[in-house]
Amino acid sequence: YLDNSSDPKIQIRELKKLLKQAQDSGNIYYIGCVFQMLGAAYKMSGDNKNLFTSSIKALSFLKNTDDHKMIANAYTTLGVAYFDQENYQLALANYDKAYEIMRKHRIKGLSRIIVMNNLATVYSSLGDYKSGIYYLTECLEQAKKESPDDGTELLAFSLNLADCLLCDHETEKAAKVLEEALVWAADEPVKAYVCDHHLKYAIAWFGLDNKKEGNKHVDAAVKLAADMPDAYWVYEDFSKIARILMENGDMERADKVIGLISGYGDRNCQTMDRLLVYSTLAGYHKAVGDLDRAVEYYEQLEELYKERTNELKQIQLDIHKSMKEADASINRLNRIIEESEECARRDPMTRLLNRSAMLRIGGEFIENASRKKEKVGAIFIDIDFFKECNDTYGHAKGDEIIKEVAYACQMEETDNIHFARYGGDEFLGFTKGLDDNAVTDIARRICARIRQLNIPNIKNPNSRRVTLSVGVVNVLITDKTDTIIQIANYADKAVYYAKKAGKNCIYLLDYGRTNAEGADDPFVNIPF
Ligand code: GH3
Ligand code: MG
Repeated sequence: YLDNSSDPKIQIRELKKLLKQAQDSGNIYYIGCVFQMLGAAYKMSGDNKNLFTSSIKALSFLKNTDDHKMIANAYTTLGVAYFDQENYQLALANYDKAYEIMRKHRIKGLSRIIVMNNLATVYSSLGDYKSGIYYLTECLEQAKKESPDDGTELLAFSLNLADCLLCDHETEKAAKVLEEALVWAADEPVKAYVCDHHLKYAIAWFGLDNKKEGNKHVDAAVKLAADMPDAYWVYEDFSKIARILMENGDMERADKVIGLISGYGDRNCQTMDRLLVYSTLAGYHKAVGDLDRAVEYYEQLEELYKERTNELKQIQLDIHKSMKEADASINRLNRIIEESEECARRDPMTRLLNRSAMLRIGGEFIENASRKKEKVGAIFIDIDFFKECNDTYGHAKGDEIIKEVAYACQMEETDNIHFARYGGDEFLGFTKGLDDNAVTDIARRICARIRQLNIPNIKNPNSRRVTLSVGVVNVLITDKTDTIIQIANYADKAVYYAKKAGKNCIYLLDYGRTNAEGADDPFVNIPF
């Protein structure tokens, strides 16, 4: 039910649920997409404030992904939000960005057509009709190619293009565009568009001095408009027509049009629309000599100008506030994502690195050490008689012991020393750039700490306490083909040696070492 035809309220509710899931997933692309869809739903429901904050968030999450179409759409939506706030400069900047991305990545289709139409709308709002004409011409061409059967869309783009042309005094060209649009208007179900088509065509005919055709279209438009009092966008053209009719001295028609407009002016609450309508009405009453009514409208106009000035100030303040809110919530979300990424790399019970994080960071250590010709060390820790611990004191107590050992390891962590949970009762520390003594010292401190804790393990013949067997290596990295697993396996050999030597001890595996007789003697006991 997340298509355009469903109730935006339902869409928003469902999207908020999706957003929760997206945030839990910590997937930036997913979060960005949901915000993008939320923006579209808010736009449909007319909630411009939430449209703005959602589209800012969508963009900030999508910006660094590689879905160019989605990024471009996010820029478009943010542009729409700025346009609604009458912030035309920023609307333009965002539409421009969207258009640029679409051109660069050859993204075609409806989203590109919409950007061109939106660009044109901003340009004509700013009075740059030539740019408006450029984009709308392109937009209409594309739409004809891509959706030749969509009469509503083609008529709408033609009307926008004709509007720009009329404003730019290209009357003949406007008439041509409107003539071509006659076929779409003929089977057009949206009455307001048909009415607007008549109005624009009338303006064009009057501009070409053909009063007969002009009047014909005015009459058709008036007839249609009587049935749809709130199709607001045709009233701007009705205002223009009223002025032309007055100039033509056709007061009978002007009366009818003024009748339509005045009703609209009273019903409509948009300051800008009322300004336009009331100025036409004031001019009309002045022209027909009804000075009292004219003065009444001029006074209302003065009030409206004041209202408008305040509105504009409020718009600025609102934009500033929304920006700050959006910023704060983006920061909050980023923190949540960082935390969930952090969770994913750690073993949930001990908070030590899990195996995949160990492989990644270990790989970085080796890469870095091979460049600097440094050593990478491994400290392999295994709890002695741990099975007996579980059997004697229960699994929960066993868990506690694992956590204690993990905590003792954590105390040693720095940027160059990390610990991972390697297996059930096995832990692997790995180090970068330390000498052999520094690495064995880490092992000694951990063993000493566990000894100090005096955790009972009655089945352990060594002191009836929990003890550890530890193997240590420290390998000079000469090429990158060493892996952290290989180095861990050397350390594991030393653990095996330690277990065989009676447990509760530390052995360093030093391959180059020989004994007094000159024979290989690679295992060194490290007292603690
Ligand atoms: P050794 O002294 O030779 O190291 O013997 P051990 O009993 O410590 O080692 P072994 O590998 O035989 O047994 C490890 C035990 O650790 C087996 C398993 O039930 C237990 N274990 C593994 N993961 C967990 C865990 O998360 N919690 C608890 N309580 N026990 C675990
Ligand atoms: Mg063990």
